[in-house]
Amino acid sequence: MNRRMQALAVFPAKKSVQLVDIPEPQLQDATGVLLGVREVGLCGTDREIISFEHGSPPPGSDRLILGHESLAEVVEVGPSVRRLSPGDLVVAMVRRPCPHPECRPCRAGRSDFCVTGHFTERGIKEADGFLTEYALDDEEYLVKVPKPLVDVAVLLEPLSVVAKAVVQARAILDRLPYEPGPQRGLVLGAGPIGLLGAMALIAHGYETVVYSREPEGGDKSKLVHSLGASYVSAASQPLETLTETTGEFDLILEAVGFAPVMMAASRLLRANGVVALTGIPAEGAAADIDVGGALRDLVLKNQVVFGTVNAGRSDFLSAIQQLEQFMTLFPESTRKLITHRRPLSEAARMLTQRDGIKNVVQLGLREA
Ligand SMILES: [Zn+2]
Ligand SMILES: [Zn+2]
Repeated sequence: MNRRMQALAVFPAKKSVQLVDIPEPQLQDATGVLLGVREVGLCGTDREIISFEHGSPPPGSDRLILGHESLAEVVEVGPSVRRLSPGDLVVAMVRRPCPHPECRPCRAGRSDFCVTGHFTERGIKEADGFLTEYALDDEEYLVKVPKPLVDVAVLLEPLSVVAKAVVQARAILDRLPYEPGPQRGLVLGAGPIGLLGAMALIAHGYETVVYSREPEGGDKSKLVHSLGASYVSAASQPLETLTETTGEFDLILEAVGFAPVMMAASRLLRANGVVALTGIPAEGAAADIDVGGALRDLVLKNQVVFGTVNAGRSDFLSAIQQLEQFMTLFPESTRKLITHRRPLSEAARMLTQRDGIKNVVQLGLREA
């Protein structure tokens, strides 16, 4: 007997987003895991998909099930599953490897560095997501989450993106042939990635500034202050003159996705500093900047600007460590990143309303 369940799906050809009634998945593979989805975080990527700017259904299907920021409970495991058992809490990695034997990163388990572009992404690109009551996955792509993190573990997927950016930036800073002194960090943007980024920089010992559009004294600036960081609003200080009041930075984490801000970031660096870009700007955007001056600084000051996307298993593991640290350093502020928790029936509406920081869809485990 095949039971039915609901899922939120986008139909790109029909330009519609709707709840669909589909059969519950059944465990088939020896290394397969049946998941009862508990929570799914929503983000700008989902908003782009429901605006039909991004995202594609699995081959042969006219619809894509949304949801890539998952938290799930293991319900059943295949006979060859070794690391997980029913009742375990897990977060699923988003990107899955391309099939090409010559793609070294994918073959090494790091599809976040895929060189062919033929990877898939759960809930985004050619693979269904987790905005559904039950889902299947393979043990290989599931990361076990410590139970005490259950309240905030839905933040692990976006935090894995931040964790990768920080790991990569620190690897670049590690190239310096001297012991650096106290480090100063700047976060551009105060969305979920920016605020998680600020927490990560503080946890790594950076004296941290967050620069964003929201006014001083608003909820986001209060949250930033509660972490022990400074907040500067774009309304009161143009980016070009920011360092006149704050000084220059060793590490800049960009989470805005607006080309002029991204292009201007390197001008705020101290000598030997690093900019990590995580935002995805629209193509064709023009920026009125002094390109010669920016390139001159990169060379004469040994600076590095790099982009980073997605995350590998080691980044998810470092995200778990960081989240545990956040829950020790600033538990209330970490919980406050999750603004609303609503049922699946309200997911589509939550995606169109842009209030709060991180909105989460809650899915109940059905009684057997
Ligand atoms: Zn996301
Ligand atoms: Zn690949």
